[in-house]
Amino acid sequence: MSDRPTVEQYLKNIENGDFKAYKCQECGAVVAPPSDACYSCGGTNMEWTAVSGKGTLVSYTVVHVSSDEFVAEVPYYVAIVKLEEGTSITGRLVGFDPLKPEDLEIGMDLVLDYQKGESGKTYLAFREP
Ligand SMILES: [Zn+2]
Repeated sequence: MSDRPTVEQYLKNIENGDFKAYKCQECGAVVAPPSDACYSCGGTNMEWTAVSGKGTLVSYTVVHVSSDEFVAEVPYYVAIVKLEEGTSITGRLVGFDPLKPEDLEIGMDLVLDYQKGESGKTYLAFREP
């Protein structure tokens, strides 16, 4: 059986609280969310790689109108976080007051976490270390 990463397994890993990214075997770039080709070199030879879960805040927005799994929790933050492995992923920011954006600072340290939506499905999230 091939250990080639699949989107299906990527989502399953998140569901299991065991996030893994893809690692390009050509250039070593870490890729997430899943892509058929390396963001960096276009290579398609990928393997799973564990990440530290540490990252920094790149950008964020406040969601006021949600039709998704977290509709009961609006307003809330959604952030883009750059992992120390170099790739950026999107997830909710938890543990911060969405009415106090002054508590957030671009470049601040965050760690990967998980959160369940109303359906019980697990999503990536970030919180203070
Ligand atoms: Zn590559």
